[in-house]
Amino acid sequence: MPDATKRAFGAQQRQSGASMKNLEGAVVIVGAGHAGGTVATLLRQQGWRGPVVVLGDEAAAPYQRPPLSKAWLKGEVGLDGLLLRKADFYDQQRIEVRTGVCVAAIDRAAAAVVLSDGERVPYEVLILATGTRARPLPVPGAALPGVLSLRSMADADRLKAALATARRMAVVGGGYIGLEVASVARALGVDVTVVEREARLLARVASPEIAAHYQALHEAHGVRFAFSAAVEAIEQEAGRVVGVTLADGTCIDADLVLVGIGAVANTDLAEAAGLACRDGVVVDEACRTSDPAIYAIGDVTRRPLALYGRDGRLESVQNALEQARLAAADLCGKPAPVREVPWFWSDQYDAKLQIAGLPFDGISRVVRGNPAQGSFAVFHLTAEGMVQTVEAVNAPAEFMIGRQWIGQRHVLSASRIADCALPVKEIAA
Ligand SMILES: Cc1cc2nc3c(=O)[nH]c(=O)nc-3n(C[C@H](O)[C@H](O)[C@H](O)COP(=O)(O)OP(=O)(O)OC[C@H]3O[C@@H](n4cnc5c(N)ncnc54)[C@H](O)[C@@H]3O)c2cc1C
Repeated sequence: MPDATKRAFGAQQRQSGASMKNLEGAVVIVGAGHAGGTVATLLRQQGWRGPVVVLGDEAAAPYQRPPLSKAWLKGEVGLDGLLLRKADFYDQQRIEVRTGVCVAAIDRAAAAVVLSDGERVPYEVLILATGTRARPLPVPGAALPGVLSLRSMADADRLKAALATARRMAVVGGGYIGLEVASVARALGVDVTVVEREARLLARVASPEIAAHYQALHEAHGVRFAFSAAVEAIEQEAGRVVGVTLADGTCIDADLVLVGIGAVANTDLAEAAGLACRDGVVVDEACRTSDPAIYAIGDVTRRPLALYGRDGRLESVQNALEQARLAAADLCGKPAPVREVPWFWSDQYDAKLQIAGLPFDGISRVVRGNPAQGSFAVFHLTAEGMVQTVEAVNAPAEFMIGRQWIGQRHVLSASRIADCALPVKEIAA
């Protein structure tokens, strides 16, 4: 953890397992998402006896977001397939899930949260699991009805309805969400152009080899790309989107625009309450914030990344689940779970990308397999040959073993990794 982060914490908080609370107290969780829904369940499983209240501003009980840009958008899964737990589960577990309520403030002095209608909900322990929101595109026309983003089930409903009648879609942002939606749109017969500010796809989150593979894959399915392209405005006629104008004057025809340019952490409540924040609510290994009574978990946190000797903000299901486990164990006085290697996945067409570790930390990269055959993996190695990251496309064995190697800090030879004549399990022998 960097010094600045360390200084943000009271010394008394940092001892692992030192913060077990009164198990009869009230836990209030703000945010009924993947992390919030999971930590509520884990608290009960680990022996928390007091009230557990989950406050969420969406209409649905906690659900998983990944299918929103994949199976759900294609109509292959319904609401039941998205929900983390069936409706009666929470009643059985004495977990009160209040949907459609927005927390407007935290009153730390009184240990209560204040809802937007003024109701006060007292807590002994508060867990912030407020996630992120879609980053807005700051150009004229961005508020038109045909300009959408994708974060929630309500967003996905709008996008699904729009895709049913759209003919030409412009996707602003060549990141995972934009590319996944592009692949679904092509399957639905919608013409797609992806506009990317950088010179390549997935610039912040994947290696050039992976980016090149996905560009070729999308092009083979008819997607067009504009790289190093800044959106200047979204054009309209009679209030309907008709295109996207780029800074170089090019106009891309479109009757639907999906903006996928990243997410902003919902730190507003924490910041207003004076908690330490730095592009995320700053937490320690056990998800404790700078207030001993307040924890934070999931996308909203800036957390220590022990494997990498730094901190960061991760947006993944694995991170949400791991932090839910860490916070629940700390609160219930259980041993801290073993730290996990971060991992992530993305589904586009028939290609499953699985990434373990955090890209860009490696000094060199080794490709195992042949991208042209649609199955390969990119291993990132430090100067000492330690595996820092693996990016695997339709290569689950490489992903699984790479994840182990990262956790065990294995030092390997690049030539053995690249040698496809060697079975994966024998590379480290
Ligand atoms: C379309 C899409 C596809 C994705 N695909 C993948 C994938 O393939 N693999 C992967 O690992 N990850 C994926 N992710 C990321 C993953 O879904 C997130 O990392 C995960 O949902 C984070 O969980 P969370 O609980 O921290 O936040 P969220 O699930 O976002 O939940 C936060 C909740 O808090 C609510 N909230 C915020 N402020 C307040 C307030 N003041 N009062 C009340 N409620 C509030 C929000 O409305 C939201 O319901 C995807 C995300 C999206 C949007």
